[in-house]
Amino acid sequence: MLLYNSLSRTKETFRTAELGKVKMYTCGPTVYHFAHIGNLRTYIMEDVLEKHLSASGYDVLRIMNITDVGHLTSDGDTGDDKMLKGAKREHKTVMEIAKFYTDAFFADCAKLNIKTPEIVQPATGCIDDFIQAVSKLLEKGYAYEAGGNVYFDTSKLDQYYRFHDFKEEDLEVGVREGVEGDSNKRNKADFVLWFTKSKFDDQELKWESPWGLGYPGWHIECSCISMKYAGEYLDLHCGGIDNVFPHHTNEIAQSEALLGHAWCPHWFHVLHLNTSSGKMSKSKGEFLTVSLLEEKGYDPMAYRFFCLQSHYRKSLVFTWENLDNAQSAYKKMIAKIRPLLADQSAPDAAQKDALLAPFREAMDNDLNTALAITALYDVFKADASAATKCAAIAEMDKELSLNLLEAAKAADSEQSAEQEIPAEILELVEQRKEARKAKDFAKADALRDQIAALGWEIRETRAGTEITKK
Ligand code: AMP
Ligand code: ZN
Repeated sequence: MLLYNSLSRTKETFRTAELGKVKMYTCGPTVYHFAHIGNLRTYIMEDVLEKHLSASGYDVLRIMNITDVGHLTSDGDTGDDKMLKGAKREHKTVMEIAKFYTDAFFADCAKLNIKTPEIVQPATGCIDDFIQAVSKLLEKGYAYEAGGNVYFDTSKLDQYYRFHDFKEEDLEVGVREGVEGDSNKRNKADFVLWFTKSKFDDQELKWESPWGLGYPGWHIECSCISMKYAGEYLDLHCGGIDNVFPHHTNEIAQSEALLGHAWCPHWFHVLHLNTSSGKMSKSKGEFLTVSLLEEKGYDPMAYRFFCLQSHYRKSLVFTWENLDNAQSAYKKMIAKIRPLLADQSAPDAAQKDALLAPFREAMDNDLNTALAITALYDVFKADASAATKCAAIAEMDKELSLNLLEAAKAADSEQSAEQEIPAEILELVEQRKEARKAKDFAKADALRDQIAALGWEIRETRAGTEITKK
């Protein structure tokens, strides 16, 4: 498979350290609020990547952290702790907030058919690992203590800026927000490994450490959690594009300093979902959630379909019109699958493979889901039996996870349920016709209400009476 690598800025043939096995790490959510649909774009694309690797024969070990401590308002070391902000906002404890939003995150993932990684590890469960790592970095001379905190010394590395497209101005975020820089830092890019003193409201959760009662910085969690489960080498590391700097840059700095060798050769980043007014952001407090889409009548699958229609390395603009278009395209696709379901004959294996070839080629070329969906549309036009087409679609949907066959079957049985109108309803409809004929409108209305109470709706049209299930 060819996969773009943010480190080399080229598409590379994806290789793993151990043949047939992928150790894949995903930066997980900061659980101080609901995930917005932008965050979920990143998780959808990582999910497709994992499923494509599995479908290509790899045994995938996927690890995800849950950030429940240490992530400050800016991705540098300034601002309040995000978890504490969430707790204050909702008058709850940090642990209550973490539990609630972790559950909410996985509930949203389930609605979007995002598989839960094999390993999910909250940061607060690994404090000893962080303390050990920070001690080792101090011992090796890569860290220093200042003003009660422990910092990583970026000047100790031959090369700190590992990604070309880092944005150094991000370091100025705190300054822009009117927050003073941290004068304890020896170099501008140094970052906190362990806090015992913050200028901001103190963390609720603190742990004993050799440097005093405190809590970990944000970046150390991903290095330690990855090494805890994957050992000294990772094959693939994923996240949203904003993670490149400083988070992933700092993860590499710490990990390689700890290990004394290269750590992860391949970095996968998903571009942002933007609204017409800019990036969707949790900290701004104005964002769209899966529940909100559902409240507005959208199927979460329509959102997944919307994401898959574009390439992960392009920014995606969210508008309601775009989502409407995706929803109607998704429904049309399901309607095209429905008539294929009746064919119970055996699929033709060779023909199925031929239908799958362009799909696989698109996915193997830097996870081109947009082209893969074109290959899916081409199945409908192909000269093959309906059963063969269904078998190819089922195979594609192992990676796309759009519930294609399930939704088509459900639409089919809804339709047949609609056709089977119970005799009792038909009798009431008949009585209502009589009442209307006799101009007894009070009785006709009462009968309509009775029918509605039984879950059916009637509409008199020029063509006759339409009876539908509510
Ligand atoms: P967070 O919960 O803020 O730590 O973010 C969770 C994931 O969502 C990270 O991988 C981010 O890089 C990613 N992310 C944040 N904002 C967006 C966005 N607007 N579009 C896509 N991904 C995003
Ligand atoms: Zn991370």
